[in-house]
Amino acid sequence: MGKKQFKAESKRLLDLMINSIYTNKEIFLREILSNASDAIDKLCYLSLTDEGVGLKREDFRIDIRLDKDTRTITVSDNGIGMTAEECESNLGVIARSGSSQFKEGMDKAQTGDEISIIGQFGVGFYAAFMVADQVTVVTRKYGEEQGVVWKSTGADGFTVEPGEKTSVGTDVIMHVKGDSDEEIYGSYLETWKIKALVKKYSDYVRWPIHMELDRQERFETGETDDEGKPKFDYRTVKADEIVNSMVPIWQRSRQDVTDEECVAWYKEKSHDQKDPAAVLRVNAEGTVSYKAMLFIPGQDSRDTMGDERQGIKLYSNGVMIMEKCDKLVHEYFDFVRGVVDSPDLSLNISRELLQHDRQLRVIGQNLEKKIKGELERLLRSDREKYEAFFQSFGTDLKAGVCDEYGRYKDFLRDLLLFYTSEDKQVTLKEYVANMPESQKPIYYASADTLRHAVSLPQCEQVRARGYELLYLVNPLDEVVLENLREQDGHPFCNVVTDDLGFETEEEKKAAAAREIEGKALLDFVTESLGGAVVRTGFSSKLTNQPCCLTTEGGLTLEMERYFRRAPNEEMRNLRASRVLELNAGHPAVQALKAAFDGGEREKAANYAKILDTMAEMMAGCEIEDPAGFVGLVSDLLK
Ligand code: ADP
Repeated sequence: MGKKQFKAESKRLLDLMINSIYTNKEIFLREILSNASDAIDKLCYLSLTDEGVGLKREDFRIDIRLDKDTRTITVSDNGIGMTAEECESNLGVIARSGSSQFKEGMDKAQTGDEISIIGQFGVGFYAAFMVADQVTVVTRKYGEEQGVVWKSTGADGFTVEPGEKTSVGTDVIMHVKGDSDEEIYGSYLETWKIKALVKKYSDYVRWPIHMELDRQERFETGETDDEGKPKFDYRTVKADEIVNSMVPIWQRSRQDVTDEECVAWYKEKSHDQKDPAAVLRVNAEGTVSYKAMLFIPGQDSRDTMGDERQGIKLYSNGVMIMEKCDKLVHEYFDFVRGVVDSPDLSLNISRELLQHDRQLRVIGQNLEKKIKGELERLLRSDREKYEAFFQSFGTDLKAGVCDEYGRYKDFLRDLLLFYTSEDKQVTLKEYVANMPESQKPIYYASADTLRHAVSLPQCEQVRARGYELLYLVNPLDEVVLENLREQDGHPFCNVVTDDLGFETEEEKKAAAAREIEGKALLDFVTESLGGAVVRTGFSSKLTNQPCCLTTEGGLTLEMERYFRRAPNEEMRNLRASRVLELNAGHPAVQALKAAFDGGEREKAANYAKILDTMAEMMAGCEIEDPAGFVGLVSDLLK
């Protein structure tokens, strides 16, 4: 029988596999085992109605045999098998449901992009050619007397011939490529390696995967020792073992597996030493059926090991189809780890397709609700644990509020915590519940540290009225509040830049009159500060302190500080427009006024500089000329 040619796009794919520099070659085993498992599914299903099959459920099995002498890996199953025609049509084309997308992707791809396309699509049987230069399939279909041998050395085509096969099922014999400088293909002939790959990708294939493993066996040597007792020695024997666990922990019922066992499993798999903050187990049946076992970690792995986050693994019927499915839940829940297993998901899911996959979206939405519910429960029932969780992952949630123009803000708002003192954090709901009736807005002050925020002079008046403040210390906090806009009808008020709303109309008029009256002094101060401030005014926000710093325009001192870390120099140099506010009733300001009114211009200018530097200090700014400031204060002490 002559050689048959592969269909055009299959040939191209095959070329790619053969010459592949794709790093994830090890997935070939997952693909071959998954085909074997499917073939057994089919025959097992048939056996329910057809007694002729003659196999019971426990008779089905997959075997992996390694032979270093012939450099072969053989995967055998006693599943449904294939006829000659099926070999030709199934193994000669890309026979996967995702094949049309694959073809499209391949057509559009430039050379070089192809590698990423392999990564995006499951490539099934062809994956064998990533590690093998010759693949032989010996198979016998259930109901047929005759076996079939399909053979290919790759791109030049394949042959299909009748052959000997004593039992129904399929052997896939992969002849492993020779080692090269880049890749030691021979490692795939090592028992430990293959066993590890089964564990990693196919642990939960529901049929047993057997391997012959070396075992140390104690035996009597036939000799005796000095005391006449028989001597023993050890020898290596081959022993058949099942190398996959078959029933994944998340598939087991709550009665069978305790939460503690799940936690132990989590710690082993994730290498996380700490208990997770919460375990979530979902068994959903409906339009989309799935089982999920998710963990909310107690700490961020990036904090401790600088690791990438592990995310959620996707399984379909016990076969892992994606190691990290980052499209299942939004980025703000990116810290969640675990497994989702759904028989409704197709094996060849691609990253691009995921967003459009309706089933995945349904699962994702349900899981997000459950994750949120679990976090709310934790917030109510174990505040300490929740705060520790928030310490690690609060910024993720806050970033989520700012994402996509605030699209998810209402979903996330009840999960956020803000400081109201150095040792207390509250949710916005709790803050509002605690507000006295007279209070209208929610006051906040932001600074680079909590202590700084608390000591801002502008906070005094608010606290004096018995109102609480939110102290913002996370660089994202201001943007978060901007996105949230209000809480239960109460707007947010920045105590540094906004009107606190404490003054009556009369008081406002009086303040304006005071500004006009004091205009000469205020202008003098601004001028003596040589561009450090855009304006000087009298403040109604101050009680005990002589002065404070506020800003005009969109850029606040917080943002200025934030941008100071920016990579771009122009951004680093951005400066908020500062306004120096003076407490007209304070003795220090009165001393300034007296010097100015008495014509002592130099003394007045020095007082202005001291007041401005003090205001900068209280606002948490860096002092530009500390030595100059010390000189001025030293003069005062003389
Ligand atoms: P997919 O499994 O997604 O259909 P593959 O390229 O992996 O794509 O396999 C192509 C087809 O070849 C399968 O659908 C199946 O019909 C057949 N096949 C592959 N391996 C086996 C096997 N071990 N036993 C029976 N049929 C198989």
